[in-house]
Amino acid sequence: MTMLMKNGVFCTPSGLKVKGQSYAKLEAAANTLRSKLPVAVGEQFKLDCISIFEVTLPSAGYAYRTVEVDAVDECAAFTIPEERVVVLREDVYEKLHAGQAFGRSTVIHELSHLALQHHVTLYRGAVPGQHEFFEDSEWQAKALTAALMMSLEAAKAASSPQNLAEICGTSVESATYRIKTLVKLKLLTPSHSLWEYGPQQ
Ligand SMILES: [Zn+2]
Repeated sequence: MTMLMKNGVFCTPSGLKVKGQSYAKLEAAANTLRSKLPVAVGEQFKLDCISIFEVTLPSAGYAYRTVEVDAVDECAAFTIPEERVVVLREDVYEKLHAGQAFGRSTVIHELSHLALQHHVTLYRGAVPGQHEFFEDSEWQAKALTAALMMSLEAAKAASSPQNLAEICGTSVESATYRIKTLVKLKLLTPSHSLWEYGPQQ
């Protein structure tokens, strides 16, 4: 699920307790899954999120639906696994078609929940908030989304966080966070290219 706060600031609520995942496992899952996803025409790294939403997900058995803004209020997107439906709020669907980072990443976020089988690995009855971040469905979906949209190869090829955001179709904020994660995982060296981010930051 992707939530927005009423003041327009994007946020993800603390999720539900699910089977634990490490960054390393999520990175490996992203690499396997990414190879099956379409890349936008004429692009090297940018995923074709419209095609993923309208072709890839339906072909995997997940139909898509859009709903009016008023019907769901601050919830931008959600998946109903039992009905095999991914629901996107109309304005987010428009952002997806406009190539805007939020619309694009929302689709990959929902795909990530499905790929991680959160509906299957959910610990029903777990006390909200009383679990580790690596067991949190929202933390996992967020980490997998970043790894899917910004491959290590893209990060190595990029000249700056702004450039990484541009070649992958993400926000600069997400690209900056992704670089910090890759540096922390020692997959990217802090001295690489023009990064101004060291592991301590
Ligand atoms: Zn979510």
